[in-house]
This record gives sequence, structure tokens and C-alpha cells, in this order.
Amino acid sequence: MHEMSLVEALLDSLLPLCAENKWEKVDRIHLRIGSLRQVIPEALVFCFQTASSGTPLAEAAVEITEIGIRQKCDQCGLEWGGEIPLGRCPGCGSIEVATTAGFELEIDSLEVFENGNEAG
Ligand SMILES: [Zn+2]
Repeated sequence: MHEMSLVEALLDSLLPLCAENKWEKVDRIHLRIGSLRQVIPEALVFCFQTASSGTPLAEAAVEITEIGIRQKCDQCGLEWGGEIPLGRCPGCGSIEVATTAGFELEIDSLEVFENGNEAG
């Protein structure tokens, strides 16, 4: 499954962080994922829960912010967004088009229960 390889990449960055900071339990994870990654959020969360079993991340709530596609024309400087990436600038027709957003796979923030700092 496509999502599983993304989850493995995320765990590869998150688990060393947990070990370094001696986090025993991560409460919440905010992710930013570009729509060009074609991730199904439910599938990603399911894979995450499966793959993180037995780690400090096992009970974390995963929240996903989807980042839309942004493109920019290198010729005329026009910027636009949309559902699907375009091969040509809608302004001047140039094919010198750069995709500036939509490929994100980023950990935006983490919420961690610090030891002895839990309410209740
Ligand atoms: Zn253009």
C-alpha cells in the first residue's frame, strides 16, 4: 500500500525524536501532506496505527492538513492553484512551469505528554 511507505518514512523521523527526547507517549501528530502525494487520509491513519503499535506513537491522534497544488510560471511569473497540475502556464502558454506546493510530506507539530506533567 502506498500509504504504508509514507508511514514508514514518518516513523523513521519520529521514532529517533522520541528516543532523543525520552518521550514515552506522543499525544497528537499534525501532518501537512500535499495533494500530489495522493494520500487517502483514512488509509494513512490506519497504516500509522498499525505500524506504530508498541512505540510511543501508538496512541497518537493523527491530524492531516492537505496542501493544495500551487504552480508558478518561470516565464511570466503567474501563480495559480488547482485540482490537477497543468503542463502549461494558463497566462502565457509557456511550459516553463514549476510546481511550488503539493508534494509536502511534513511533520507540522507534535503534542507530547511530558513525564509527570499530565493533568489528571
Ligand atoms: Zn506564464
